[in-house]
Amino acid sequence: MVRRNFETSPIILSDARMGGVFPIMPSAAVISSDRLQALRQAVLEQFEPHILERGLVYELTGRILDLSVDGGVVSAHVEGTSVYRVALDLDFFGISTCTCPYGSGFCKHLAAVAFRVLREFGADRPEEWGIFQETVARLAALRPKNDYRVPAWTAAADHVAGCAQDAGLAAWRAFYDRTFRECRRRLDSGVMAIRETFASLDKASDAWDEPWRSWFGFWTVVWAMENVESLLSDSWLGSWAFIRREWESLSEKRLVDRVRSLPAKEEPFASFCREAAVHLAEKAGTPRPGQRVAFHPGWFSLLAWLWRKVDGEGAGGWTADPDVYARTRHSAWVQALFLVMDGRDDEAWEKVRPYAIHGTVGPGVLIAETLVARREPERAAFWLERLAESIEAMDEGDWRDYLAAWRRLCGEDGDAAGTERFLQVLRSFLPRSLPHYAEALSAAGRYREWADLLMAAGFVFNLHDSSRLSVIEKKDPEALLPLFHQTVEYWIGQRNRTAYREAVRALKRLGRLYHKLGRDEEWRRFCGWLADRYGRLRAFQEELKRGKIVP
Ligand SMILES: [Zn+2]
Repeated sequence: MVRRNFETSPIILSDARMGGVFPIMPSAAVISSDRLQALRQAVLEQFEPHILERGLVYELTGRILDLSVDGGVVSAHVEGTSVYRVALDLDFFGISTCTCPYGSGFCKHLAAVAFRVLREFGADRPEEWGIFQETVARLAALRPKNDYRVPAWTAAADHVAGCAQDAGLAAWRAFYDRTFRECRRRLDSGVMAIRETFASLDKASDAWDEPWRSWFGFWTVVWAMENVESLLSDSWLGSWAFIRREWESLSEKRLVDRVRSLPAKEEPFASFCREAAVHLAEKAGTPRPGQRVAFHPGWFSLLAWLWRKVDGEGAGGWTADPDVYARTRHSAWVQALFLVMDGRDDEAWEKVRPYAIHGTVGPGVLIAETLVARREPERAAFWLERLAESIEAMDEGDWRDYLAAWRRLCGEDGDAAGTERFLQVLRSFLPRSLPHYAEALSAAGRYREWADLLMAAGFVFNLHDSSRLSVIEKKDPEALLPLFHQTVEYWIGQRNRTAYREAVRALKRLGRLYHKLGRDEEWRRFCGWLADRYGRLRAFQEELKRGKIVP
C-alpha cells in the first residue's frame, strides 16, 4: 500500500508549493552519478533507521532553508530546535558535520540534507531517482507503521474540487473518508495534521458558489468531529490534552461560523438540514460500546443550532435516544438537549444542574436563546431562571450572554412591560448587574432611579467622559444634582491638589445645572458653605479662588 501510494503521488517533484518555497538548484551545480551512488550507500548504512525517518520528514516539510554545492561539499542550513549548519562531504561522508548537539552518530539534519541532494540532483535521471525511491521503500519496510510520506492532501483536494459542487453528500463523504484516513495515519506526527486537514478541505470548495460552500464547510466540521473524536477516544492519543484542546477550539470556531450561515429554510437545503439533524441525533444517541460519546463540546452547539434552524416539521427527526453515555459534562448537556427537544425541561435540568452550578452554563444559555427564537418564552424563562443559581460561577463571557438572552426574552423593541421586566431581572442580580442596570435605567429614561442607584453605589462621575451625562443634563437636570454633590465631596475628600481641581470642575458643572433650573442662589449658598466648611484646606481654598467660585 505504501509503495502504491508513493507511485501514484508524484507530488514530491511536482508540488508547486515546494518549488515556490525552495529555489531550484543553480543549473551549474551538478553532482556526478558516482557521488550520488556513494551518498545512497551512506544513507542506507550510516544512519539509524529512526534518524533517517526524521530526516526524511524534515526534508519533505521544508526544514532545509538553503543549500549550496561546492565541489564535493554540500552546505545547508536546517531548521530544527534552532537553525543548524550542515556540511555534507560527498567523497568522505564520515567527516560530514552538523552544529546540532546530537551526540551518537549522524543526525537527522544531515539525513535531511542527504535526502534533499538525492531528490534534487537525481531527479532528472531516472536511475538516480530510482535510488531515492528504493531508499524510501526500504525505510517504509523497516517501520511500516509510520508512514511519513508526503501527504495526499493536495491530490485529494484536487479530486473533490473536480467533482461538481452539487455532487452531494455521497461524493463528499467519500472525500472526507479518504482525507481522514490520511489524518489518522499522520496524527502521530502532531497537531499540524488537523490544521492541514482543514486547510485542504477548505481549499476543495474554494471555487464553489454559496450556499454550497457553506454546506460543504458544515459537513466538513461534522465529519471531522466524528473522525477525530473516534480517533482520539480509540487511541493513546486520547490522553494528549493539547491535541484535544487544539482540535476543539479549531472545530468549535468553524462550527459557529458555518452553522450560522446555513440557509435552512429553502429547498433543497431544508431537507439537507433535516438529514443533518437525523444524522447527528443518531450519531449522538447510539454510542459504540465503550466510546465516549459527545465529549466534544461542539456536538452540543451543533445540535442546538440545528434544532433552532429546523423548525416545527423537522422536530420529528429528534427522536434520538437521550440515554447518551454521560461521562462528561458535555454529554450531560447533549442528553439534556434531547430531553428539551422532547419538551421535558424539568428532567433535562436535573441532568445538568450539577454542571451548571459549577459554571458550565453556556449550553443552557444557548437552549434558552433557542427557545426564545422558537417563540416559546415560558420555557426560555424556565431555563434562565434555573441558571440564575449559577450567577456566582459565571465567567464574564457567559454572564454577558446570559443577560443578552434575558434581554431578548423581554423583547428588544422595548415595550413598557418588557422593559419593566428586564429591569426587574437586572435588579434581582445586583450587585453583579450594577453597570447593566444603570445603563438600562438611563436608556429607559428613568433618570431618578438611575441617580438613586448611583448614589447608593457611591458613584463618582468621570467628568472627562460624559457624553451620556449631557443627555441626562438636558432631559432631567434635577436628577443629577445629588450625584454632583456627591462627586464634589468625593474629590475634596481625596485631600490633594489634583483632586481639588476635579472638585472645582464638578462644582462648575453643578452651577450650570442649578442655573438651568433657575436656582442660582442655591448654588452660591452651597459654594459659600463649602468654602466655610473646608476653610482649613489651603490648597482647596486656592483652587476655589482660581476657579472664581469664591471672590
Ligand atoms: Zn544535526
